[in-house]
Amino acid sequence: MNQKGLEKLFHETLKDIYYAERKILKALPKMSRSAQTDELKTALAAHADETQVHIERLQEVFEMIGKRAQGKTCEAIDGLLSEGEEIMDEFGKEPALDAGIISAAQAVEHYEIARYGTLKRWAEMLGKKDAAKILDQTLKEEFQADTKLTKVADATANDLALRA
Ligand code: ZN
Ligand code: FE
Ligand code: FE
Repeated sequence: MNQKGLEKLFHETLKDIYYAERKILKALPKMSRSAQTDELKTALAAHADETQVHIERLQEVFEMIGKRAQGKTCEAIDGLLSEGEEIMDEFGKEPALDAGIISAAQAVEHYEIARYGTLKRWAEMLGKKDAAKILDQTLKEEFQADTKLTKVADATANDLALRA
């Protein structure tokens, strides 16, 4: 077993999601402001608060592996967030806007779920139980955020878009 390879992958992927979380933290307030229903505004604002905690947790994990907290450009999240920007530009004040914002936000959540799922598994394999636990807390919150967005889509946003 190549422990060194996995440790390096773990560290590089941690940098990827650290960059991503900080970009997400900057993007969520605008998405929340742009949303048309209070329900979606609140869901996105609440997830911005959680995202701040996710960043702090990642800083803890960096500390646990004896590395300084450092991001590395993640083109995937840059791309997903610019798709979100595009939707907000294109749909301005149209009734379909919220459904579009949700679709963009869920793409982001799914990216995070992929990253945290992998990082948690790798932490376990590397015997970093405390790190795995912290990563799992965030993973669960990303799943909850995704579920919440589905609920908002089902309750209001998709119907608004359909009837417009
Ligand atoms: Zn997050
Ligand atoms: Fe990435
Ligand atoms: Fe998230």
